[in-house]
Amino acid sequence: SQDLEVTSAARNWRVEATEQPSPGALVNDLFASDVLTLEQLKARLSKPDYRSLQATVERGQSLDSSIADTVALAMKTWAMEKGATHYTHWFQPLTGSTAEKHDSFLNPAGDGVAIMSFSGKELIQAEPDASSFPSGGLRATFEARGYTAWDPSSPAFIVRHANGATLCIPSVFFSWKGEALDLKIPLLRSTEALNAAVTPALKLFGASGGTRVSSSLGAEQEYFLIAEEYYYRRPDLIMTGRTLFGAKPPRGQELEDHYFGAIPDRVLSYMTDAEMQLYALGIPVKTRHNEVAPGQFEIAPIFENSNIAADHQQLIMQVLRTTARKYGLVCLMHEKPFAGVNGSGKHCNWSMATDRGENLLDPGDTPSENMQFLFFCTAVLKAVDEHQALLRACVASASNDHRLGANEAPPAIISVFLGSELSDVFSRILSGEGGSAASGGLMGLGSQVLPEIPVHAGDRNRTSPFAFTGNKFEFRAVGSSQSISFPITVLNAIAADSIRQLTADLQARLDAGRDMDAAVTDVVRETFRKHQRIVFDGDGYSEAWHLEAEQQRGLLNLRTTLDAIEHLSSPQNLALFGELGILNERELTARQEIMYDIYFKTVNIEGETTEYMAQTQILPAALKYLGDLESVQARSRAAQGLGQEVTRLTDELYDALQVLRAQNEALGGDEVHEKAHHMRDQVLPAMQEVRRAADALERVVNNKYWPMPTYRQMLFVK
Ligand code: ADP
Ligand code: MG
Repeated sequence: SQDLEVTSAARNWRVEATEQPSPGALVNDLFASDVLTLEQLKARLSKPDYRSLQATVERGQSLDSSIADTVALAMKTWAMEKGATHYTHWFQPLTGSTAEKHDSFLNPAGDGVAIMSFSGKELIQAEPDASSFPSGGLRATFEARGYTAWDPSSPAFIVRHANGATLCIPSVFFSWKGEALDLKIPLLRSTEALNAAVTPALKLFGASGGTRVSSSLGAEQEYFLIAEEYYYRRPDLIMTGRTLFGAKPPRGQELEDHYFGAIPDRVLSYMTDAEMQLYALGIPVKTRHNEVAPGQFEIAPIFENSNIAADHQQLIMQVLRTTARKYGLVCLMHEKPFAGVNGSGKHCNWSMATDRGENLLDPGDTPSENMQFLFFCTAVLKAVDEHQALLRACVASASNDHRLGANEAPPAIISVFLGSELSDVFSRILSGEGGSAASGGLMGLGSQVLPEIPVHAGDRNRTSPFAFTGNKFEFRAVGSSQSISFPITVLNAIAADSIRQLTADLQARLDAGRDMDAAVTDVVRETFRKHQRIVFDGDGYSEAWHLEAEQQRGLLNLRTTLDAIEHLSSPQNLALFGELGILNERELTARQEIMYDIYFKTVNIEGETTEYMAQTQILPAALKYLGDLESVQARSRAAQGLGQEVTRLTDELYDALQVLRAQNEALGGDEVHEKAHHMRDQVLPAMQEVRRAADALERVVNNKYWPMPTYRQMLFVK
């Protein structure tokens, strides 16, 4: 049957051209072999030039342009040794993906001679034809120029393809007025803001001068794999990244047999191949396993400085996507490719650390370390409570709406999970008891060590969007397909803002003559009292929590993207980003406009794809089946009954389709906000009705007639 043919094609995979390095022995040689590290540059630059570059890379000093030519030459030589023929400024426009425009090193020198060259000017700045990148109004046509500039804080690397390689130079992207047109500039600015806010606080806790602080980030990437054969038979996957139709298979994830199960051979081969490439790129991928839903997997690197982590996260997605094809697979990064089974997220584990590697969210072993820890931890609680809307907005997208606020992990309501140990510490500080029952002693912050707070190996509370996990916070609302740059920017910004305020508070108390121990205790107690409503350790899915959160605690429940991004340009957020020098008003509202626009376009494409598939694939298949049933209806009661059912469902499908067609046509207005609301309020519900009828038909129509692979096939054939 067709079912069998498709299935055997889908199972057919072989790896031809990959030369797998033998894992194990080679891995440490392989690591970062395609990265132009400082170590590499040191060997290729004069001492003074190297020191100058090092000051830029490690201490954020501005680049001395007189060394650009020598650095460019060193880069070109290194890249050509690696087989590179081209270079590109590699940047992160506001689309959320990465962009590259390749230029060859080749330069004709007359009379059939060519030289390979790369100048300092070319290294430092380029002007891609930028008019087609979204700018949210930042760049009118008359000022269409956009520039990319080398970001020396992230190392250059080589990306290989079958016939060569390209030198990729991490870059930022901005308008001729110097306004950020990308996701990287605000991220870098937020790192500066965090450093500026945290170092004065650390000084009060006794840190030496010259300490630099940045955030650290480890992102756990979830994804689905399906056979390529199926992918090409699903217009919805090709057009939208998710299935717009598909009846729930008899078996989903309820047996819980996939999570952490043995990884199928084909998938494991794929993962290993991808990991080898990621190692070469210096990306410390560490963990791989099956996820909850059938066909769902996860990869997680070890955390890094968040600027580097953001670049690496983009590369992880890219390598996962491209490598899948070699194995006859397609990697789906969409937040909800299949209804009825778990969606995919990208848990962002975030902390703050000094340049000496001290983790500021690690409770530590001494009373003074504890005091410092509680100060920063409390600052994060305050930050999350005060900026719920912004946290929700920075993960808002049409695709992530299928996770957040849709009865799935995590909910759209932002709250913080602390765990019982830390909750207990805070409640004792709050009550002023100060006594630790366990140790019997007094727990003035400075005089007693905190109870041991375990670092959790697994997700203890999967339902919380923002969880403390022993020495870091885990922001779980981030979507699997999205760039982590903006969420990190937001985390850095709100933490900086909150730490700045608490530091001023602490300083004022010290100035008034309080001793450090008492002053910190006061700040922590008062801040916690004000913001404790944000702490919730219970079941985030439950209806009871939704009621409590909204009605008793007054927490925001911004269910959809449009509810959330409305808040982006609030006076509070304009002030936050403005004061910290991260985004000015134009830059922030531009981002908001782009989010509306992407939301509208995403759902619009889904609406039209739904219409197309229902009209040209599903309806004809059902009608054909109906026709065939009719030929035997005189003789068969079964055919009569079935015929009635198919007739009813086909009519329902037809009616729902008329509604959808009208809504697709209508568009809701001229202006992007109106269009976006039309999509949410009219098109999505109309799509849902079409799907309901179509999925019901899938369950009764002869499988041979069904025009596309089913969930049963896509999720289970490996
Ligand atoms: P879990 O599986 O419970 O979520 P893990 O300890 O396995 O937690 O860590 C998950 C991710 O958190 C990894 O990417 C890890 O590197 C990262 N991580 C650990 N410590 C930190 C930290 N201090 N800052 C940022 N990320 C961290
Ligand atoms: Mg986790």
